[in-house]
Amino acid sequence: MTIPFVDLKAQYALLEEDIKERIHTVLEHGKFILGPEVKELEERLAAFSTVRHTVACSSGTDALLLALLAYDVGPGDAVFTTPFTFIATAEVISLLGATPVFVDIDPATFNIDPIKLQQAVQAMQTKDPSLYPLPKGAEKLTPRGIIPVDLFGLPADYDSIASIASTHKLFVVQDACQSYGASYKGKPTGSQADIAATSFFPAKPLGCYGDGGAAFTDDDALAEKMHSLKVHGMGTHRYSNVRVGLNARLDTLQAAILLSKLTVFAQEIQQRNEAATRYTHMLSDSPVQLPAVPQGSTSAWAQYSILTDNRDKLAAALKEQGIPVAIYYPVPLHRQQAFAFLGYEEGDMPVCQESSAKILSLPMHPYLTESLQEKICTLVKENL
Ligand SMILES: *Cc1c(COP(=O)(O)O)cnc(C)c1O
Repeated sequence: MTIPFVDLKAQYALLEEDIKERIHTVLEHGKFILGPEVKELEERLAAFSTVRHTVACSSGTDALLLALLAYDVGPGDAVFTTPFTFIATAEVISLLGATPVFVDIDPATFNIDPIKLQQAVQAMQTKDPSLYPLPKGAEKLTPRGIIPVDLFGLPADYDSIASIASTHKLFVVQDACQSYGASYKGKPTGSQADIAATSFFPAKPLGCYGDGGAAFTDDDALAEKMHSLKVHGMGTHRYSNVRVGLNARLDTLQAAILLSKLTVFAQEIQQRNEAATRYTHMLSDSPVQLPAVPQGSTSAWAQYSILTDNRDKLAAALKEQGIPVAIYYPVPLHRQQAFAFLGYEEGDMPVCQESSAKILSLPMHPYLTESLQEKICTLVKENL
C-alpha cells in the first residue's frame, strides 16, 4: 500500500455518489460553458468568504492575472511580492510587462515580512538600493501594488500590509491559492485585500478535478471588469468586446465538482487542523522548527512544513521508507533562471534562502490517521 501525500481517493470515496450525480446533471443539461453550477458556485463562495463578489475562473494563475489586469498593470509598474512562493505569483507580474520587486519573508511564518516591505517601498521611492535590494531598472518603475502570499495556508500579516499600502497608495492582491478555508482576525480568507485569488488545483485545500480558480472582491467595478476580462473583455453582449481579455472561464463540470466538495469543506478544514495539532504535539520533543500560527489567524494547512538542518538526509530516509515528502520551494524565485534578468544576487533574501535549504513538508490532508502520523513522526525523529 503506498501512502499518498494528499489523499484524494479517501475524499472521493466519501463523495462519489454526489459527485457522479452532479456530473450527470451537467451532462444532461449540456450547458458546459458558464452553466448554472458556475453561478451557484460563485454565490456559495462569496457567502463562504464573506465578500460581495466571486469571479470563478480557469486557475489560480488566471485569478491573479485577472486581478492585475483589473488594475491595468503593465510595463513600467512595480509590484512587491515574496520570493518564497510558487512561480505563478511573480509570473503574472512579468507576463504583463511589469516588474516583480521581491521582499524577504518572516522566518516563523514564511510570509512576506512587513518591516522589509516598508524598507523596499522606501528604497523604491528614494531610488536607493542601499536601503533594500532592488531589481535592475527599478529607478524607472512606478510602485503599484503588493501581492502577499498566504504560504502553506497561513494568512499573511494583512493589518501591517494594509497600513503600508494605504500610506503609499498601493493595491493589495491576496494570493490565497493555498489558504482557502483559513481565517485572519475572525474573517475568512478571500476577504483580506482589495482582490484575492485562490486556486482549485486538485491538491489545494479546496480542489476540483482539473484546473480552476476564483477571484474575490467587495468592489463592484473591479468584479464587473474581471467578469468581462475572463470572457475576452466582453461588454453587454457576447460579440461586443470593450477591452482585450482572456478565455479564463471555469468549466461547468468543475463547478459541479466543487459544489459537491463544498458540502464537506468546513469539516475537512477542521480535520486538517486536528491533523496539524497532532503533528505539532508528536514532534514537540524533536529539534525541528514547527509551523507557527500567530494569534488571531487560523491556517488552512495546505502544507505542514518543518525546518531542519538535516533536510536532505531526512527527506531521503523518509522516501526510502515509503513516506512521501515534498520541498516547497527548493529554489526561491529571485534565484530562478526565469527571473535572472532582474539581477538579484545570492544573499539578497537571506531568510528565504535559508528556509528553502531547510524546509520539508510532511503528508497533509483531512483523512490522515493518527496511527500513520505516529509512524511518520517516529521516522522523522529517528532520521534527523
Ligand atoms: C497553486 C498556486 C498558484 C497557482 O494556482 P494554479 O491554479 O495552479 O494556477 C499560485 N500561487 C500559489 C501560492 C499557489 O500555491
